[in-house]
Amino acid sequence: MKKLSIDDIDLTNKRALVRVDFNVSLKDGRVTNDKRLRAALPTIQKLQGSGARIVLMSHLGRPKGEVLEEARMGPVAQALGKLLNTTVHYVPETVGPMVEEKAAALKPGEILLIENLRFHKGETKNDAEFAQALARLGEVYINDAFGVVHRAHASVAKITEFVQPAVAGYLLKQEMESLGRVLENPERPLMAVIGGAKVSTKITVIESLLDRVDRLLLGGGMIFTFYKAMGLETGQSLVETEFTELAIRLMQKGGEKLILPSDVLVSPEFDFKARKVGQLSTVGFKEIPADCYGLDIGPETIAGYARILEEARSIVWNGPMGVFEITETARGTTRIAEALAFASGNGALTIVGGGESVTALEAAGLSEKITHVSTGGGATLEFLEGKEMPGIAALTAR
Ligand code: AMP
Repeated sequence: MKKLSIDDIDLTNKRALVRVDFNVSLKDGRVTNDKRLRAALPTIQKLQGSGARIVLMSHLGRPKGEVLEEARMGPVAQALGKLLNTTVHYVPETVGPMVEEKAAALKPGEILLIENLRFHKGETKNDAEFAQALARLGEVYINDAFGVVHRAHASVAKITEFVQPAVAGYLLKQEMESLGRVLENPERPLMAVIGGAKVSTKITVIESLLDRVDRLLLGGGMIFTFYKAMGLETGQSLVETEFTELAIRLMQKGGEKLILPSDVLVSPEFDFKARKVGQLSTVGFKEIPADCYGLDIGPETIAGYARILEEARSIVWNGPMGVFEITETARGTTRIAEALAFASGNGALTIVGGGESVTALEAAGLSEKITHVSTGGGATLEFLEGKEMPGIAALTAR
């Protein structure tokens, strides 16, 4: 790693200001999923063990610079306290004298969680004054919020101009190292599987992966924009007509590397809200009926993709192969998850990048079998594009 990490600095007695990603879901004042809290535990426990005094900061939801009662961090402090079996102090303000006083009063090993960063407009504006006010809360800065490193926000980027050293926590370090293995010298063949609803949100990652992978397998709603670009009937399927030219460009660039499904699962009825589909049938990609929705990849495609993935030494996967939220059209996604788990069993490096594919993987109970399941959504994609991200660029170089 080119940047300093939490293992490289002396933390004894230091007041450590830690940017975490505690953007959890809350219901009736309780945290409903503590996955993101658990992901930060290794860093917090390391700080406790080193006798550091710990100030945690995060955003929660989208308050857009206003105080939103339902986005306060109080319930998060409680849930974190339970996980750590200790008191996590909470202060209902983000910056200012009261927060500084509380931070200064911390004893070694004690933890303070400050109020939601996005109650202040300065956060998303990467504002220097706000960053400076935050920086007063710590003597060293640790970023452990991989989910936001692609954002030039005050607590992620600007802040490091005012508090040094700025280092990576364990979660961020692990993400950078694991995803970095795909970018730098991966064992080959290296395969990518890209799915999801729309091609428009994945263009840059597809383009950049095409330069580096041996095969790129496509699935999900985005495939119909490619079929449309080929002049085929796509029925009622999701198509982004304004992106057909781009789809052609990607196909030209990809050549034989870029692989599209040979068969798809279609239905004349599809109601996402009600989670309902009608009678399903499998058709070749050139035979989609005009009155049907394409909803998943077909069995021939699943078998072909599984064969290709079996040969892989490295695989990166982002985005579901079909409407996996509905049982009848989840098969393609589940089978790909299984193929990755199988490849892992054979010693391949498998990386699942963020968002919906992680949900699908968890639903299939296969997360444990994957080399690295990324905690980021947008951040994972941008990392894989090889972009330098503001939150990583801002850290202290070795
Ligand atoms: P994304 O957030 O772009 O990764 O897309 C995930 C969403 O794509 C999921 O909610 C899927 O239901 C949806 N999706 C996948 N395949 C299709 C399809 N064939 N038609 C419509 N939506 C799809």
